[in-house]
Amino acid sequence: MSDADPRRSIPRTDVLLADPRLMDAAGRLGRTIVRRAVSGAQDRARRGEVLPDEVADAAVALLPRRASTLTPVLNATGIVVHTNIGRAPLSAAAVQAVLDAAGHVDVEMDLATGARSRRGAGALSALREAVPAAGDALVVNNGAAALVLATTALAAGREVIVSRGELVEIGDGFRLPDLIASTGARLREVGTTNRTHLRDYIDAVGPETGCILKVHPSNFRVDGFVSAVGLAELRAARRPDGSPVAVVADIGSGLLTHDAALPDEPDATSALDDGASLVTASGDKLLGGPQAGLVLGDASTVELLRRHPLARALRVDKLTLAALEATLRGPEPPVWVALHLTADELRPRTARLAQALGRDVVGVEGRVGGGGAPGFALPGWAVEIPVAAVERLRRPPGDIPAVLARVEGGRGLVDLRCVPAERDDDVRDALAVALADEDRAP
Ligand SMILES: *Cc1c(COP(=O)(O)O)cnc(C)c1O
Repeated sequence: MSDADPRRSIPRTDVLLADPRLMDAAGRLGRTIVRRAVSGAQDRARRGEVLPDEVADAAVALLPRRASTLTPVLNATGIVVHTNIGRAPLSAAAVQAVLDAAGHVDVEMDLATGARSRRGAGALSALREAVPAAGDALVVNNGAAALVLATTALAAGREVIVSRGELVEIGDGFRLPDLIASTGARLREVGTTNRTHLRDYIDAVGPETGCILKVHPSNFRVDGFVSAVGLAELRAARRPDGSPVAVVADIGSGLLTHDAALPDEPDATSALDDGASLVTASGDKLLGGPQAGLVLGDASTVELLRRHPLARALRVDKLTLAALEATLRGPEPPVWVALHLTADELRPRTARLAQALGRDVVGVEGRVGGGGAPGFALPGWAVEIPVAAVERLRRPPGDIPAVLARVEGGRGLVDLRCVPAERDDDVRDALAVALADEDRAP
């Protein structure tokens, strides 16, 4: 290496860290991330890829945009509850509540007296106001946790009676029978895959029964020669001494009251009215809130779960409680808005987008997705794009937001159903870039 070799004059780390842009980034992103960018830029200078006086600029260019590697995505799939991109986006009210709760908050303190209070009392009373049929409520980490807690508290060491038609796999290899077995409860399967009768349940009830579990098959449908037992009928199931058997209804989707737009989707209020002792559900499916497991039911059964030692391991943090309460008390969340958008409402937005890009509008069917209303179609419209552009939309250059479109029948589809209307222009700009690359491709 000669004296004239520019690699000799690569700026030192402390000099680079004093660059105002990198100092500012250290405040936002943390020193570790900035140091990594600085040493990456120095490495590039050593390899002769940048000049010594360009190293600071190169370090700035290497900085990630945010401290978390989670990248925001605009959902243009038309799938309302998409598990791989975080299910429900929060309402503006819930986002604000999360920000407010991010510091110190009175999550477990009565500010009037300074005494300890019931954790998350606000979210719990919001739940009870939303579902007056429930005597009490409890919130845990997710729907699976709610089910684990319910079966553990009611049936560990005893039997959970469940129909063979409801032994479902919910996603990512998560199987209900395995989950229940992990709690130490024994699964007592009754009926067959397609037909289960009240008699099957009644014959299975005995001294070993912990509870009856009804699971909503939220991601598939069985058609044809099928028969299942409704919750109301299960009231007839009694122990040998005549006492009632606790019935747990895992409704999955988290609808609190019936929604005429989703006629076949179970809801917590109807399940409790029909006699369920407990309802378990997710907070981030059709309710449109944060990831959470909701437990609603008669007060003494909920109390049994609350006092179980496992409840402490499954509890939720203040951010979840804040977002859940604001979802329940605030304006309709984005999931609700997306589910209730009509094809007529989507048409002008889609036409504007298509016209700006010189593309065609095609009729499509959106989906509820993520464990709700299987097979239920949401009629709408989409802009058709080449499949190759779908990939580029996912990994855009520079400051352009990532957009997730859908691929169906060999074509790319951009469906605005789940895109907030005020972000339509962002989708247009991202598409313009992805399609321009398309035109340049050979
Ligand atoms: C989604 C779902 C679950 C699991 O809920 P998570 O919140 O994902 O843990 C359990 N049961 C049913 C019926 C579901 O649809």
